[in-house]
Amino acid sequence: MKIHHLDLGPCRPLGGRLMDGVSPGTVARLSCHCLLVETDHHGLVLVDTGFGLRDALRPAPRLPAWNIALLRPRLDPERTAIRRLKKIGFRPTDVRHIVMTHLDFDHAGGLVDFPHAAVHLTAAEAEAATHPRGLRDRTRWRRVQWGDTRRWHTVETRLGSRGGGETFFGLRNVREIEGLPPDFLFVPLPGHTPGHAGVAVKGPRGWMLHAGDAYFNRDEAHGDGSAPPLVAAYERLMADNDAAQRDSLMRLRQMLRTPEADLAVFCTHDAVEFVAMAAWSESDYAPPVSAPAPAAGNEALAADEAAA
Ligand SMILES: [Zn+2]
Repeated sequence: MKIHHLDLGPCRPLGGRLMDGVSPGTVARLSCHCLLVETDHHGLVLVDTGFGLRDALRPAPRLPAWNIALLRPRLDPERTAIRRLKKIGFRPTDVRHIVMTHLDFDHAGGLVDFPHAAVHLTAAEAEAATHPRGLRDRTRWRRVQWGDTRRWHTVETRLGSRGGGETFFGLRNVREIEGLPPDFLFVPLPGHTPGHAGVAVKGPRGWMLHAGDAYFNRDEAHGDGSAPPLVAAYERLMADNDAAQRDSLMRLRQMLRTPEADLAVFCTHDAVEFVAMAAWSESDYAPPVSAPAPAAGNEALAADEAAA
């Protein structure tokens, strides 16, 4: 198994360090951290799809104008999953499974680029997204991005609905994903959306947990629990259920504080985490650095920007 870390929608919102905690000047950096996993017997597996080719070629009316004005993603066809994996040497049909942390517009844009893939998501997310209530729901969930929903395979993660599931480093109610080996797990972290879940993947270096949008800044999970003010405001704005989101984050923090928590945990939108995880995966020696000091984080971002 090999795991590629892909930024499938680098964003350059205004706000500098008030948004990302590190960037000097007015422009901040957020990532759209997705995984491309080469499995031994199940083809390629994507964890989230970022912005898709059609989003990049013709953003309106596929994407919500207000969020796009705020996040300022680089909508570049060459940065989409389908183009990136072709560059690595794969065909789109090699992607047989897509595992979604949730269905927000910045995670689901590539679904339609892989019509042959089975799409795995939680039952709660599928229900909520197909029955939007109010303006925020209709803004975040874009039916035009999904393609044929008959290929959706839902996993019931709500407590009590089908027993308690398994535990994963102390996190409860974790579920295996039908059709995939037990190296892939759904770890429910609701709040950002009703069916939001982390996706755990066991790679050559042990377990990692893609926590999706359970948090936006590394310090929320790995540091003092706070986020830079502008990103904290965006998180609150997009949270479906504030209390549930705080509870998910608290459970994540508790897990990370236990000595048994021998795993890498990262979120979608922290660019420092993205750069650290990508470097860790590529190197033979570096330890996982999910929460580098701000100065180190800034250097890493600058080097990454120069290489891009
Ligand atoms: Zn997001």
